[in-house]
Amino acid sequence: MAQSSIWVSNVFGKFSRNNFLTKHFSSEVTSKNYYDVVIAGGGMVGTTLACTLGKNSKLSSKRILLLEASKGKDWSLPEKYSNRVISINPGTYKLLNDSDIWKHIKNGRYTTVKRLQVWDAVSDTSITFGEQTSADDVSYIVENDLLLGAASEEVKNINNVEVLYNAKVKCYHLPDFHENSVEIILEDGTRYSSELLLGCDGVNSQVRKAMDVNYLSWSYNQMGVVATLKLSEEIENTVAWQRFLPTGPIAFLPLTKTLSSLVWSTTPEHAKNLLKQSESEFVDSINEAIWKVFSRNSVVDQATKTFDNLLRMMNCSADTVRQYPPKIAGIEEGSRAAFPLGFGHATSYIAKGAVLVGDAAHRIHPLAGQGVNLGFGDVVCLNRILGNAVYSGSKLNDLSYLKEYETERQRHNVPTMLAVEGLHRLYNSNFTPVVLLRSLGLQATHVMNPLKKIIVNQAAA
Ligand SMILES: Cc1cc2nc3c(=O)[nH]c(=O)nc-3n(C[C@H](O)[C@H](O)[C@H](O)COP(=O)(O)OP(=O)(O)OC[C@H]3O[C@@H](n4cnc5c(N)ncnc54)[C@H](O)[C@@H]3O)c2cc1C
Repeated sequence: MAQSSIWVSNVFGKFSRNNFLTKHFSSEVTSKNYYDVVIAGGGMVGTTLACTLGKNSKLSSKRILLLEASKGKDWSLPEKYSNRVISINPGTYKLLNDSDIWKHIKNGRYTTVKRLQVWDAVSDTSITFGEQTSADDVSYIVENDLLLGAASEEVKNINNVEVLYNAKVKCYHLPDFHENSVEIILEDGTRYSSELLLGCDGVNSQVRKAMDVNYLSWSYNQMGVVATLKLSEEIENTVAWQRFLPTGPIAFLPLTKTLSSLVWSTTPEHAKNLLKQSESEFVDSINEAIWKVFSRNSVVDQATKTFDNLLRMMNCSADTVRQYPPKIAGIEEGSRAAFPLGFGHATSYIAKGAVLVGDAAHRIHPLAGQGVNLGFGDVVCLNRILGNAVYSGSKLNDLSYLKEYETERQRHNVPTMLAVEGLHRLYNSNFTPVVLLRSLGLQATHVMNPLKKIIVNQAAA
């Protein structure tokens, strides 16, 4: 049964759905409460989408409302770095720059990652991105709160966008075939209606539930442990490090010359232990995870050595100087936390009057740092397509345009998600043929700059 019908019977048991709609919404939603677009969820994706649509000259006559459940706050840059950071790709950088959000981040702080080094703890094969590709910068590290604060600051300057904080949506009613607008009720009883609802309300999206679309999801049975790390010495710190351990990847993302951010994906039991450890035990665990020598498989060792010699004979060796990650000396007090990791994908991103964007539509493992980048890619695409719809005289909720958005994004998101999922599964195994396959694959990819460029370009789009 459709979620919208459940809602009607739960909240207004005795009315039939159609009775309810004609009796209530038509009389109670005033023109003041009608918006052309309502964005549900003012996280990083929703707030950036509000800025982007608000700045789109083709949409300048449209009234846009952003609803966010949490309290709005005047944001200022704290002295301490937040433990939640994201690695943003050049495509996201362009979006943030074009929508004037980047200037606030630039006035705050961010780190440029010049090189990404990834290696396998079991076979010691590695791959480096950055110096060999023509891309100047691999990515930028930005705190989640800073990005959100920057987008919230910028959206204040846009006349046709209103932002409502403390606005938790209780339920949605999506239009039937004979209706044209979406109805939205907040927990405090306020009602809105809109031509188009954009669901940016995250992994547990209520918009997605109201759309009643199929959602493929599973838990990785892993937690992402995060913390702000103090390095043992001052270094240039422009390299992001990631080591694939048998229990999951551990990554250091550079923040300053003396600080990095940890993202360590591991089993829930291990994550629980890591959170309980004293600071010095936790630091020892991190250093051990990065440096520990694991027992090697002689078949894999012999094969990778032979393959390396072969590549050298063919003059294909990448000949990169292997650098070593920094040693960790401590952590910022109170910066340790853990988050559950899971996969999710909505088989459809659109329904009549509604569209899913960001984590509401898709969720992936953080091992490739692509989660929110996919969401920002959705923002770029949706902004262009809605602009085109209005420019050609169509309605914002014209399904042929919404379908174009869905097709374009699924063509990008699904292969990226499958690649990340494949990497997760490949590195989650100690089975010799799998270790051999991934080690040779990594060696081969490492020396093939065109292939690396393809990977970087796919990740950056
Ligand atoms: C450990 C970890 C590391 C990560 N690292 C990276 C990385 O390096 N790079 C990367 O690209 N991604 C990364 N990600 C993924 C990234 O954090 C998410 O993709 C991103 O936060 C999703 O943003 P969003 O705006 O779509 O959703 P959310 O951040 O979940 O925002 C949803 C918003 O909707 C609001 N909301 C929800 N329900 C309602 C309601 N009923 N009414 C009103 N408002 C509502 C919420 O309050 C919230 O503000 C990582 C994730 C984890 C767990």
